Amino acid sequence: MEKGSIQRWRFQGNKELASASSISTTIQGVLSSLKQNLNQNDTRPAIPLGKGDPSAFPSFQTTSVAEDAIVDAVRSSMYNSYAPTVGILPARRAIADYLNRDLPYKLTPDDVYLTPGCTQAIKIILTVLTRPGANILLPRPGFPFFEACTARNHVEIRHFDLLPEKGWEVDLDAVEALADENTVAVVLINPGNPCGNVFTYQHLHKIAETARKLGIMVIADEEYQHLTFGSNPSVPMGVFGSIVPVVTLGSISKRWMVPGWRIGWLVTSDPDGILQKSGIVDSIKDCLNFSSDPATFIQGAIPQILEKTKEDFFSKTNSLLREAANICYDTIKEIPCLACPYKPEAAMFVMVRASSFLSSLLEKMNVYIYDIFTNFCSRSSWNYRCWKALTMTWNSLLSWLKRNQLLYYQE
Ligand SMILES: *Cc1c(COP(=O)(O)O)cnc(C)c1O
Repeated sequence: MEKGSIQRWRFQGNKELASASSISTTIQGVLSSLKQNLNQNDTRPAIPLGKGDPSAFPSFQTTSVAEDAIVDAVRSSMYNSYAPTVGILPARRAIADYLNRDLPYKLTPDDVYLTPGCTQAIKIILTVLTRPGANILLPRPGFPFFEACTARNHVEIRHFDLLPEKGWEVDLDAVEALADENTVAVVLINPGNPCGNVFTYQHLHKIAETARKLGIMVIADEEYQHLTFGSNPSVPMGVFGSIVPVVTLGSISKRWMVPGWRIGWLVTSDPDGILQKSGIVDSIKDCLNFSSDPATFIQGAIPQILEKTKEDFFSKTNSLLREAANICYDTIKEIPCLACPYKPEAAMFVMVRASSFLSSLLEKMNVYIYDIFTNFCSRSSWNYRCWKALTMTWNSLLSWLKRNQLLYYQE
């Protein structure tokens, strides 16, 4: 058939999306841009130093309890239908029970909404908070997905610093100075990515009091809850729900080492019903009505995964992470051009300060340093330009250092 003539196609790509996922905002953006720019004729292997997916490493595999739960859910034929957009009741109840172990009051299944991972929960709460002129307070360093979604929703980003000299605590004076009548929320990532810190009970209490004074909610990304191995126990922000309304985000991705399973939650910790009265709860439900849901059989497996996983699975993970953190911290101390102000006590990352000498050496060696945080820095008392967020897993860092003969150690 002959093609008719056409003057021009009426559709085109959306450039705004490119800027939201750009190199300066998301990790995926950085990685895809790097991959595109690799020299195809160079046969040397590319060593990924920024893997945030523990399941890629043989030492971090999930438990058979979780695998069996999935198989049982599929075989039961009970989970072949669409699920309600808030998630199926048994899964919401199991998540409420799981979180209630650490809370002074009881969440009900109605406080829990299922999402395909914690990232989708971030997207939902940021979409809910979108309104003309609104601004939101984000931590720096932080988790760039927040920046990407906030920018995409046309909400203004205001960064407050985490203070390396204070164990990466929130600069609360900065939070107060940044907030105004258009501020809607402050975001915390605790336990911390990428700093590996854990806020104390007292510090969280102060954050709650500050947020209350400012009239803003707290969004707590607790993806690494319980993945801790230092002296600070991980306290959920929801503990302070009667001081300030808290929206808690989490998933099984990291604690169970299954980020590909795509199930997470958005939970309202709000014993005084402020989120209900302000319409936030209705907006969350509205937003869920037009967003994607986790696969129903994964939802069906959640009660068994949360209830039956044995403590020794978690303690083995945490002791592996502790051992790796110790090796890494001690190793960094041995390397003159690297410094680490804070020994990680949680999660899977370390913030390392690289000297300008090392930075230029690495660049010559075609090592791309994941440097996105420096883009946001304006703090005059600290030269963030020399902070490099080497958000890399311990094994990768060590093998890279070994390959480059920056480190010799006995196998
Ligand atoms: C990995 C990570 C997430 C994403 O979790 P998913 O459940 O896999 O979407 C969210 N927040 C932080 C801080 C993370 O490190």
